[in-house]
Amino acid sequence: MYEKLTKIRQYLHSIPELSGKESATAEYLRAFLQSCNPDNLITELGGTGIAAVYNGPITGSRILLRCDMDALPVNEESNLPYSSAISGVSHKCGHDGHMAIMAGVANWLSENRPTSGSVVLLFQPAEETGKGAIRVLKDPQFQEILPDFVFALHNLPGFPIGSIILRTGIFASASRGMIIDLSGSSSHASEPHLGRSPAIATARIIQIFNDVPAFDGSMNRSAKITVTHVRIGKPAFGTSPGKGRLMATLRADNVEAMKTLSQWSENNAREIADSCDLDVQITRTEEFPVTENSVKAVDSVRTAAEHLGLEIYQPDNPFPWSEDFGHFTMSYPGALFGIGAGIHSPALHSPEYDFPDELITTGVDIFKRIIECYNIK
Ligand SMILES: [Zn+2]
Ligand SMILES: [Zn+2]
Repeated sequence: MYEKLTKIRQYLHSIPELSGKESATAEYLRAFLQSCNPDNLITELGGTGIAAVYNGPITGSRILLRCDMDALPVNEESNLPYSSAISGVSHKCGHDGHMAIMAGVANWLSENRPTSGSVVLLFQPAEETGKGAIRVLKDPQFQEILPDFVFALHNLPGFPIGSIILRTGIFASASRGMIIDLSGSSSHASEPHLGRSPAIATARIIQIFNDVPAFDGSMNRSAKITVTHVRIGKPAFGTSPGKGRLMATLRADNVEAMKTLSQWSENNAREIADSCDLDVQITRTEEFPVTENSVKAVDSVRTAAEHLGLEIYQPDNPFPWSEDFGHFTMSYPGALFGIGAGIHSPALHSPEYDFPDELITTGVDIFKRIIECYNIK
């Protein structure tokens, strides 16, 4: 089965699709899952999502295991035999591996039905843009699979291969995209004083965002703003620009700090725009809540990892990145946990990254044990 799952992973790797557009991935998975005889197969869930349901003969807890389906707008720089066939798009977050793991769990469940309750294997679209989880949760079909507990894993470079990374409480930070549109008026480049250019305001906003203060109790070292994109005017020399756009990601590892940070950054952007006589429009986008793990769910992942003799890491602080699985843990007790992708693995989202196939078996095994922890097999 390991060889088959590796082939599945590598095939999925070769057909990467961007967030919300995972139709070929979904079609391939649908056909595979059909061959694993689920009791119910829900398709077009929150877009291209799929849920395979395995029922036991008597009632009990319903456990939902979730993996993500989307790839990234990153060009693959590798000579892998299964390299991305789509220019400018590739699986650089390992979601191809997460799907292969879930395919392995489906294969196991096809011959090992739960003895009570049910297991839902959810393939979720559009994780990277923070839109997929909400769409799945709001899809009327989700009412058929309302879970008692939810679990998901993410591979994590920087930790020993196959180790398990656990944290009770907040596991991954909240983040939010902010778009600041500045409008003044353009003028001839020889007469900048006759126009209202957003250049100085943009520079001041970048500077102040770089120097986020520590504030008081509600803010902590986790709060940060990363400027991700800036544009003013056109790439030419004759005109002093009249419009500008600045995009930034806000990040914090608790709800209060995110609130304070959002307010602080919006107030500062407005004040600076005002002082430069510019109109400003601020848009929030791609909002990820914190992912908060429940004690009971983390305990069952720990028990599963111990049973398998896997090395366990328990970081003191939440991770600075975000996961839209936080939308699930807001509504249902559950846990997001990490599976080490190797100390020297290239970072997630980098062009050199590739999911290590040796993690597939560990991933399948830990999900099997988690299912068993809930005594439904
Ligand atoms: Zn990612
Ligand atoms: Zn990811």
